[in-house]
Amino acid sequence: MWLVATYTISKMNIQLNVAQALTWRYVIALLLVVSLSTAAWLSMHLVISEQKSTAALVNVSGRQRMLSQRTALFSNLLTNAPRAERSQLRKQLTDAILLMERSHNGLTHGDAAMGLPETRSAVVHSLYFDAPDSLDGQVKRYISTVKVLLQLTDEELTTDNPSLRYITTTAPTTLLVALDHMVAQYQLEGEVAVQRLQRAETIFWLATLLLLVLEAILIFHPFVRHIRLIISKLQSATEALQLHHDQLEVTVQLRTAELESRSHALQESEEKFRLISTNAKDAIVIIGPDEQIIYWNPAAERIFGYSANEMAGENLHNLLTPERYRADAHSSYQHFRDSGAGKLVGTTFDTTALRKSGEEFPVELSISAFMFQNSWHALGIIRDITERKLLEEQVRRLAFYDVLTNLPNRRMLSDHLNLAMAANRRSGCHGALMFIDLDKFKLLNDTHGHGTGDFLLIEVARRLKDSARDMDTVARIGGDEFVIILTDLNTNRTEATKEAIFVAEKIRTALSEPYVLPIDAATHIKHHCTASIGITLFSGHNQEEAMRQADEAMYRVKHSGRDQIRLYDTRA
Ligand code: GH3
Ligand code: MG
Repeated sequence: MWLVATYTISKMNIQLNVAQALTWRYVIALLLVVSLSTAAWLSMHLVISEQKSTAALVNVSGRQRMLSQRTALFSNLLTNAPRAERSQLRKQLTDAILLMERSHNGLTHGDAAMGLPETRSAVVHSLYFDAPDSLDGQVKRYISTVKVLLQLTDEELTTDNPSLRYITTTAPTTLLVALDHMVAQYQLEGEVAVQRLQRAETIFWLATLLLLVLEAILIFHPFVRHIRLIISKLQSATEALQLHHDQLEVTVQLRTAELESRSHALQESEEKFRLISTNAKDAIVIIGPDEQIIYWNPAAERIFGYSANEMAGENLHNLLTPERYRADAHSSYQHFRDSGAGKLVGTTFDTTALRKSGEEFPVELSISAFMFQNSWHALGIIRDITERKLLEEQVRRLAFYDVLTNLPNRRMLSDHLNLAMAANRRSGCHGALMFIDLDKFKLLNDTHGHGTGDFLLIEVARRLKDSARDMDTVARIGGDEFVIILTDLNTNRTEATKEAIFVAEKIRTALSEPYVLPIDAATHIKHHCTASIGITLFSGHNQEEAMRQADEAMYRVKHSGRDQIRLYDTRA
């Protein structure tokens, strides 16, 4: 990207520079062209005027030669012609000699109309004026002689006239030679001028070529410079690209190595997951974004009895009981799904589930959320806690129940008494606490052994349970000591007392019934046993006081001969 940007900027700069450079270079080039055109025009003009002037000089010089012969002829004709024709010949001779005079003036002093220059070369000048018998003198003498001839009368025009003799005999030899010499000189100078012009022309074209080269350099130099600049920029861009390419190569290699190691790690992690999930004792379930099961491990198959195929796409909540836990699990799942990233909270709770066989069993369910392929998934770990629950129940029984008779022990009795007192406070009813101690139980132990004593205790417990109502609590708090809590007795204390004594009497009678007890595997004995029962009514909240009172009432029975019922007397 940066390469393209740099290239664009430098391209704009180059264009700007080229435009600036070209502006003043074009101005110079234009000036050169104008100068060259002007010089060409001037040189052509010079050549043409030189040629014209040389041609005019040669022509007019040649014409002088022709005019000298013509005037000599006309002079001769005039002299020999009859008088009647002389006028015409005189006019023709006059015209010719005047033309010759005008031409001579033009050749010696210049005549623009005839194209003759005002100046001449030194050689020509010398021939015209400085030579011993100069051409200028000869021509002037000839012209003046012809003019003299023209002034002669018809009588004076005779063939022996000296002017005529000079014109026709003397002058032609010297004048013609001089004029030929002059024409030759003009021709020579013309050729020299042509050679000079050719040289000048060569120099001019060389100069033109040089200027054209200069112009080309001027115009193309910035291009060359900027093309070099562009080439150097392209070279550095190529180098940068190469560097970038090399770096990319290294990055690709590193990335490939990283990906390979990741892939290896992934394979390892997949293998570990497979090992864990196949060998796990707990059910491992993965739930997709739409709450459908997408993974169900072998332990889940074993625990629930459903195969992975049967559970694919099913909802785990359908296997949870009761409804409340289904709702909990559902709302937990919704929470995970909606809570967003960074809130990978989990929850664990105990509930019950259904096996394929329909059996309900306790489970510990842990749900935690995780992000997979941009959507929330849940991982459920379900542990069959049937054994743990049984053990817990056992521990609970040991803590709260008497092992021998399976009746609540002293600790549970205390809880129940608290509850009964609280219920009485709310309802205003009375309750009764009954202490029952078997009479002379030690004797049975001593006589027939502890085992037989245990059988008696178990039977006593059964009879007490049978005599009490379901809502009442029957507990064993010591060796042969039992306690019964009677609840919901009358709100009237007297009536409540009657009800309590009635129950106590019923119990005393039940316990007085004979017992058949084994003394060994084959022998049983019939045994009679009585009990001392102390009762106290309670409606308040002092548990210790109620216990003490019932205990005291029972001890009073012991002291007064046993096998009786005694109500705790607050006045005693
Ligand atoms: P009393 O009429 O004064 O109550 O005389 P008693 O012989 O019943 O004497 P007490 O109530 O003081 O003695 C209770 C006996 O119960 C003492 C103990 O050896 C016996 N005992 C305590 N726990 C057990 C038990 O779990 N099994 C059996 N078989 N006997 C027990
Ligand atoms: Mg006893």
